[in-house]
Amino acid sequence: MPSDASSRPVNRHTFEKVMVPTYAPSDLLPVRGKGLEVWDGQGRRYLDFTGGIAVTSLGHCHPAVVKALQEQSETLWHVSNVYTNEPVLRLATALTDATFADRAFFCNSGAEANEAAFKLARKHARATHGAHKSRIISCVNSFHGRTLFTVSVGGQAKYTEGFEPLPPAIDHIPYNDIDAAREAIGDDVCAVVVEPVQGEGGVTPATTDYLVALRNLCTEKGALLIFDEVQCGMGRTGELFAYMGYGVTPDILTSAKALGNGYPIGAMLTTKDIASSFTVGSHGTTYGGNPLGASVALAVLETINTPEFLGRVKEAGARLRAGLQAIVQEFPNVFSGVRGTGMMLGLILAEGFKGKAKDFLKAAEAEALMILMAGPDVLRFVPALIASDAEIDEACLYMRRAVNDVLGRYQGM
Ligand SMILES: *Cc1c(COP(=O)(O)O)cnc(C)c1O
Repeated sequence: MPSDASSRPVNRHTFEKVMVPTYAPSDLLPVRGKGLEVWDGQGRRYLDFTGGIAVTSLGHCHPAVVKALQEQSETLWHVSNVYTNEPVLRLATALTDATFADRAFFCNSGAEANEAAFKLARKHARATHGAHKSRIISCVNSFHGRTLFTVSVGGQAKYTEGFEPLPPAIDHIPYNDIDAAREAIGDDVCAVVVEPVQGEGGVTPATTDYLVALRNLCTEKGALLIFDEVQCGMGRTGELFAYMGYGVTPDILTSAKALGNGYPIGAMLTTKDIASSFTVGSHGTTYGGNPLGASVALAVLETINTPEFLGRVKEAGARLRAGLQAIVQEFPNVFSGVRGTGMMLGLILAEGFKGKAKDFLKAAEAEALMILMAGPDVLRFVPALIASDAEIDEACLYMRRAVNDVLGRYQGM
C-alpha cells in the first residue's frame, strides 16, 4: 500500500465518492478555526455561529483546551476501564462538586450518555419496584441521539422510520403540557426524560411550572426524572447546567457536546443511590473517560464554571437576542419572533416562509455567516459562548444582509 493518503488532495466532491450518504454537507469546507472564526481552503473567513452544533463553546482551538490536550497527549492516551486514571477521577470530582450528582459515568457522545441513563432507569426501577415498571415517557419533538434506543425515546418519527422493530414501552407527550404529563405518568413509568430547552426540536425552553410538575409527578410515582442537557448544558443558558436556572433538580443528568469542546466525550451524572443499580459489568464502554477526553473536559469545565464566565454568557445572550429581535422588527413578514434562552436562540420563520430555513442558511453562508436550523421553520444560533459584542453585532449585520438576499431572490422570481 502506498502511504500517500495523508497528502492526497481532497475536496468537497470527494464526499460523495467515499462517505456513506447520511449527511449532505455544505459546499463550505472549513480547514482552520480560531475563536469564532473559520477559514476555508481559499482563505475566505466565516463567522461561526453554529459552534459545531453547540459543541465548541470556548471557540475553535481555545488555548486552555489545546494545552490540556497537548500535555495529556504526551503523558498517557488510553488505558481502558480495566484501570482507572487520574484525569477521569479529577473530572468526576469536579462534576460532582459542581452539581447535584454524587456519581459520574463517562462515554463518548450524547446518545451514549442517554443510552446509559435509560438503561440505568430501567435497571433501577426493576430492582426497586419490579419488572412491570419499565415505561419511559418523553416529549414530542425531543431529540436524544441516534442509537436505536435513543431515537425511539426521541420524539421525532422521521428518525425511527425504517428502523423498526423499535424497543417497546416508550410514550411521547406534548412538551410543556402538564395535563398530558399527569395523564401519562402512571405506576409503570420508570423514567421521564426531558430537555430543559429543546434544541434540535425548535429551540424551545420548558416553562418552570412544567419542570416543577414533572419533578413532583416523578417523585409521587417513583419514576426518575432525567434531564438531557447534552445541548443546553455546560454554560449555554448562562448557568453551568440549565436545571440550576430552573431550580428543579433531576435524578439523572446527561451531558456531552460542549463538555469536550470538540473532543468526543459524554457524561451521565446521578446520585449515589441510583448509581448503585449499575453494578460491576452491567454497563461500560472502551473509551469512556479516557485520559485525553477527561483532561480536555476538565479544562473546559474549569474555564466555563466561574461566575464571570457565566455572567458574560447571560450578557452576550441578551445582546444576541436584542440583535435578532431587531431583525424580526425589520422583517415582520419573514420572522414571527425569537425563542430560546442564553446563547441558545432561534429565529422563528413566519407563516409565508415556513419550511424555508435552508434558504436562509445558504444565504447566510454566502454572507460569511455560519448558522444552523432546528427543523425547517427555525434558524438556530448556538455560537461559542466567548462571542464578543463586536462578533455578535457582525453576525446580526450578516444575517440582515442574508435576509435581504433571500427576499431579493423571491422578488426576482
Ligand atoms: C446532540 C444531542 C444528543 C445526541 O448527542 P450525540 O453526541 O450526537 O450522540 C442528545 N440530546 C440532545 C439534547 C442533543 O442536542
